[in-house]
Amino acid sequence: MDYRKKFLVEPGSKVHLGRLDPAYTGGHSSEDEARAAIDKDVERLCELQYRLYAEHARSLLIVLQAMDAGGKDGTIRHVFRAFNPQGASVHAFKEPTPLEAAHDFLWRAHNVAPPHGQVAIFNRSHYEDVLVVRVHELVPKHVWSKRYDRIVEFEKNLSQAGTHVIKFFLHVSKEEQLRRLEARLDDPARHWKIDELDFAERERWHEYEKAYEDALERTSTERAPWYVIPADHKWFRNLAVAHIAVQTLSELKMQFPKPKVDVAEIRQKYHLES
Ligand code: AMP
Ligand code: MG
Repeated sequence: MDYRKKFLVEPGSKVHLGRLDPAYTGGHSSEDEARAAIDKDVERLCELQYRLYAEHARSLLIVLQAMDAGGKDGTIRHVFRAFNPQGASVHAFKEPTPLEAAHDFLWRAHNVAPPHGQVAIFNRSHYEDVLVVRVHELVPKHVWSKRYDRIVEFEKNLSQAGTHVIKFFLHVSKEEQLRRLEARLDDPARHWKIDELDFAERERWHEYEKAYEDALERTSTERAPWYVIPADHKWFRNLAVAHIAVQTLSELKMQFPKPKVDVAEIRQKYHLES
């Protein structure tokens, strides 16, 4: 199954999240049955990142967005553990600090965009500025509504500089979100994760859904596509994200740089067997 095609938000198309099944699991019946496929893609991601790092000419930006408890942290833990920390970084986008708030909204994102050879994962991102900011009217409509075009330009700019951008919206149902939030209440080891805001934000589910739909519609481009990942089943979410990341990276056909030395000459000079 080509999940890249299946979950892509076609540039210019309409998005109706209500029509996309968050519990979809493709042709897979269970986590056990999908395990081998997930492991294979995680392994492949590791090899591809090695090439990206070695080539040192391009970079990869992975944007993760979701409702609270949507699985962003889990995706990083289970899928992006594939990456060698030497060539990867994770950036969480929280409420802007005073310094961040004193700049344009893209400043903090640009600041941590990945340089050549590196992967950056955004746990939340510059999209918060058309999501939470819109839902809570933190700035007036005439300000946030202009941001979609700024985001498209920003991502185009990154792409022209060799940064590949892929964006995942982890799509969970309202019921699954509640199960996860309740599980946190039941588990002392997860109490630290509880944020009363998450429960309050649930009441604005539909406003968030609308804000997400607009963001997905207006900013999915060929250069920086959005994928809507069915995420009620954590294992399927991992499978789909890993699969799409592998497909994207393998298409870059990264090349190892030319050796700085003549290997045969080194063997001869230092009397080494081949
Ligand atoms: P968490 O990801 O659960 O640690 O929470 C981070 C919080 O920061 C979320 O509630 C986000 O909506 C919020 N946040 C992120 N970016 C912004 C922003 N630009 N303006 C306001 N709130 C933000
Ligand atoms: Mg939270």
